[in-house]
Amino acid sequence: MRQRIRAGLEAASVLITSGAGVVLAASRDGTDPDATQVASLMAISLTAVLISVLVYRGRGRAWLAARAMIEQQERLTAVVEGTGVGLWESHLGKGCLYVSDRWAQMFGLVRDCNSPMPIGEWRRRVHPDDLPLVDKVIADCVQRKDYVFQLDFRVRHALGHWVWVLSHGTVTDRATDGSPLRIVGTQSDITARKMAESALEESERNFRSLFERSPVGIALTDYKTRRFLQVNDAFLEPSGYTREEMLAISYDAVAVRSDGGPLNQATGQRERVFRRKDGKYYPVTISGIRMTDSNGRDVVWSVVQDISHRKAVERELAAAARRDRLTGLANRTLFLERLQEAVSRVRDGGQQMFAVLFLDFDRFKVVNDAMGHQAGDELLVLIAERLRKALRGSGAKGALESANQIARFGGDEFLVLINDIEKSDEAARIAERLLLALAHPYSIQGREVHSTASIGIVTSDHCLEGAETIIRNADVAMYEAKRAGRACSVFFNDAMHTRLSRKLMIETSLRKALGTDQLSLVYQPIVELDTGRRSSVEALIRWKHPDLGQVSPSEFVAVAEESGLIIQMGAWVMKESCAALARWQQADPERAPRVVSVNVSRAELAQGARLLGCVNESLRAAGLPPESLQLEVTEREVMRDPAASLALMHQLREAGVRLAMDDFGTGTSSLGCLRDYPFDVIKIDRSFVKGLAAGPDTLAVIHATITLVENLGKSSVAEGVETAEQLAILQSLGCHYAQGYFLGYPLPEAEVVETERTLLQPRLRIA
Ligand code: C2E
Ligand code: MG
Ligand code: MG
Repeated sequence: MRQRIRAGLEAASVLITSGAGVVLAASRDGTDPDATQVASLMAISLTAVLISVLVYRGRGRAWLAARAMIEQQERLTAVVEGTGVGLWESHLGKGCLYVSDRWAQMFGLVRDCNSPMPIGEWRRRVHPDDLPLVDKVIADCVQRKDYVFQLDFRVRHALGHWVWVLSHGTVTDRATDGSPLRIVGTQSDITARKMAESALEESERNFRSLFERSPVGIALTDYKTRRFLQVNDAFLEPSGYTREEMLAISYDAVAVRSDGGPLNQATGQRERVFRRKDGKYYPVTISGIRMTDSNGRDVVWSVVQDISHRKAVERELAAAARRDRLTGLANRTLFLERLQEAVSRVRDGGQQMFAVLFLDFDRFKVVNDAMGHQAGDELLVLIAERLRKALRGSGAKGALESANQIARFGGDEFLVLINDIEKSDEAARIAERLLLALAHPYSIQGREVHSTASIGIVTSDHCLEGAETIIRNADVAMYEAKRAGRACSVFFNDAMHTRLSRKLMIETSLRKALGTDQLSLVYQPIVELDTGRRSSVEALIRWKHPDLGQVSPSEFVAVAEESGLIIQMGAWVMKESCAALARWQQADPERAPRVVSVNVSRAELAQGARLLGCVNESLRAAGLPPESLQLEVTEREVMRDPAASLALMHQLREAGVRLAMDDFGTGTSSLGCLRDYPFDVIKIDRSFVKGLAAGPDTLAVIHATITLVENLGKSSVAEGVETAEQLAILQSLGCHYAQGYFLGYPLPEAEVVETERTLLQPRLRIA
């Protein structure tokens, strides 16, 4: 009997210990804050029950004791189950399992007190992967005396999911031969803990693989010692170090220039330069996070990316941005840089002299228009090749160094910088060489194309200002070369400089003068010689500059054209002339002119439809019919772009406006051209009238012109008639209209009507 009591007590104590363990584990999980108390309570209760059981069994009589025992047991079960622990008891002989309510709830089952669960059914609920271990542990437990097993495994819940349980158990009854009769145990649900553990494991696994397989370098360094603690492959790869070598050196051995690039605020990244094991450098971006690790150590996690490739691409892009895409020559940006460097060198005494050549191709536009842009591009590429070749063979020191000094500035403009020359003669020689190389025809799309260049030259002896100024001066010289007959070179000189300065001054003042009373109009009569009546007046602009006095329109109109101011100015002239005509007609319909003639420049013509709009608006505002307005276009302007001019002229004619070709004889058109243009009037240039006295040649030309014009049904006006003699000759040649100081000076608006009788008629001896 004593032995049985002892065995019972021992089993009880073992279970109590394991039960307390379970409860303590539960308390660690945070599922039960009073788990320690529960454990001790359970231990005491269970001891009492077991003692009662043993006493009851041993004596087999005390009813009271039995009752007490049942109550105790119920209380104990309630306490244990209150902690969330389920109880089970396996009867090996019967092959079944008695379980508590809590145990059954754990798996979503309802406990049936009368029919215990067959072991087979329970085994089917255990996860197939865990079953072998469960079987083995129970087998061990059965084998070993006083052994309490502890095992976690998965059991299927009634709803189908898996429940992780922690189970303890021990054999409490054995037959006399030692074979086990009963195993008693506890079971608790540890799914939440298992999930948390596996989430942690997974995040650690993820971090590991991220760290190891990241294409970006990651390093962990000790903040104080600056030693590397961990580095991944991507960190090692560009460095050339092995992991062992890297872990033996400090951060400072690799990050040599830690004062490197700027901090990118958005990404927290900095650019740095790292040194490879072989001593070479490579650029990286780096960002770091400082923290305290689980050992309390101050560490820095750094993310480092090798940006050698990106930097190389950036360099390439930067280089491409400084090249002309078509010809591969330097572009404007690069040339300006090089030129500015040359200026600095001459200023510092680093070189004696340089020259800039500005090349413009005389017939490029014609090729482009006639053969298309593709052909134009081909021509530019061929030009670039010839320039390169000619310069290479020129012997110019600077030119040999690099091709950067030849640039395409846009369109057909090329620039050459020749460094390190001693005399301006050298620049002239090189220009000659280039002209020679460019003089041969090009073969484009199976056709022979000629395109000579005009070259303007500036040397640093003549101009050592900013790069932009030097280029502008070279451009001025280039225009002089064009004026001098093309296919030649001209040096920029002081006279050009003076002209240029005046031009700039005129431009600035004119800009201010627009819209003020500095600008006014005068009107010169055009007289019908047969009747002596004024058929029309030509509006001529005047500018009275506050300091310079009267500035000639021949001077400022050209500046206005170049600067674009002519558009605003022309619109004003048109509007004002129409308004003046309307006022004269209103004041004295009898004597007022019928037509006002307005000069229109190339830039105004280039506006196309806008010019038409301006004409219509001026007429509308003055309430005049379109035939009251005559537009004068110089022969030279017409011939610049005959096709474009022709189209616009037809439009103007259709609108009802009269057209006059001004300064005929100064341009390049032949008499034959007169037929093709829709002009009503041809104005014979002053120079011819002036030459009348000179001899029969001029006389013959004027006669031919007048005859042709009249035959074409147009009128001819002789310009610049200054003497009675000129007038008489012109009349004898059949000229019907004339304009000139002899017939009337340009006058302000108020004086125009008055002069009709007083000035004109007495001068004309009308038959
Ligand atoms: P243009 O259109 O050929 O005008 C005739 C020019 O000859 C005027 O010079 C006029 O004053 C001048 N002239 C007239 N009769 C005689 C004469 O008997 N002898 C001499 N020596 N000259 C005479 P102006 O006013 O100096 O104008 C010069 C040029 O400026 C004009 O030549 C015209 O091309 C341009 N111009 C004048 N006003 C305007 C304008 O409002 N718009 C535009 N686009 N050009 C204008
Ligand atoms: Mg005119
Ligand atoms: Mg004229």
